Amino acid sequence: MLQDNFGRRFEYLRLSVTDVCNFKCNYCLPDGYDCNSDRDFMSFDEIKTLVSAFALLGMKKIRITGGEPGLRKDLVDIIRMCRQTPGIEQVGLTTNGFNLERNIEKWRDAGLTNLNVSLDSLDPRMFHAITGHEKFESIMRGIDKAVALGIKSVKLNAVLLKTFNRDQLGTYLNWIADKSITVRFIELMETGDNQQFFKENHVSGQEIQQHLEANGWQAIERGTLAGPAKEYRHPNSQGKIGLIMPYSKDFCKSCNRLRVSATGKLHLCLFAEQGIDLRQGLSEGNIGQTCSALTQAMQSKVASHELQQHLTGSTKHLAMLGG
Ligand code: SAM
Ligand code: SF4
Repeated sequence: MLQDNFGRRFEYLRLSVTDVCNFKCNYCLPDGYDCNSDRDFMSFDEIKTLVSAFALLGMKKIRITGGEPGLRKDLVDIIRMCRQTPGIEQVGLTTNGFNLERNIEKWRDAGLTNLNVSLDSLDPRMFHAITGHEKFESIMRGIDKAVALGIKSVKLNAVLLKTFNRDQLGTYLNWIADKSITVRFIELMETGDNQQFFKENHVSGQEIQQHLEANGWQAIERGTLAGPAKEYRHPNSQGKIGLIMPYSKDFCKSCNRLRVSATGKLHLCLFAEQGIDLRQGLSEGNIGQTCSALTQAMQSKVASHELQQHLTGSTKHLAMLGG
């Protein structure tokens, strides 16, 4: 079992398989992917060694992320391998959805259990203004297809942006009323590259929370493998709402996640100063060495991020690590 010095247990891995992305989200990669970045990503075999080591140490849930994980050619094999690893109960994917419609059936057949699609607006023009992409209609069809195919958990991520989608809550609430979908509003986080954008666009999730609580939405108890969202349900809505508020008090107390970058570095926090290189053990296929490195690293996990002090660590943008 992976446990830190504050008694927190880690059963949930966010695994980045690439940091390449084809979108230009204004809060993440406004100028697009930097083609000069190091692209020495972990091979399938290295990822397999990593997943085996984590599973031996009690990891139960893996969320595959990026950059855009849908760009990775062996994504189906990675999903299947994760799902077939003894001990892994849930395999999730976080995607911008650009090839969701085309591939969701293959991903489901490979064993995908949880799907998170980033959709920062239900208005195609605003979606384009935020992401620089025209894929809105296809993403919507992909989401419907995922629900119809029986993916156990389908969630949408929307980053709250003051000058773009702040007033879209009503539209999302109407949309989920008859859908088994959870929409999660994520507070914009400051990163090394988005400081000015953050100043102009950060808005607290508290105003949504107050609206929900005043209008009959009830908080749901959080499961042990759950992500960081505080979730709400309403008797008249099939869909649910989640709030991810990293600036709220005690956010880090319930941290149950670890992250590995696409180049094989363990990040103990999304905003850590540096990653811990696991590559040697991974390239040798050495599960034992990887387990030792992971167990030892737990001693260095700190109590909390320091985003309130605008300390963003080495994280230039979240595409580097997968959010
Ligand atoms: N490309 C995939 C996607 O967009 O779903 C996966 C990687 S993306 C970094 C993972 C999540 O992080 C997305 O839901 C995205 O909206 C969110 N994200 C990116 N930058 C963010 C920021 N500065 N603050 C809050 N959320 C952010
Ligand atoms: Fe790409 Fe996801 Fe970042 Fe948007 S949020 S630029 S889709 S990595």
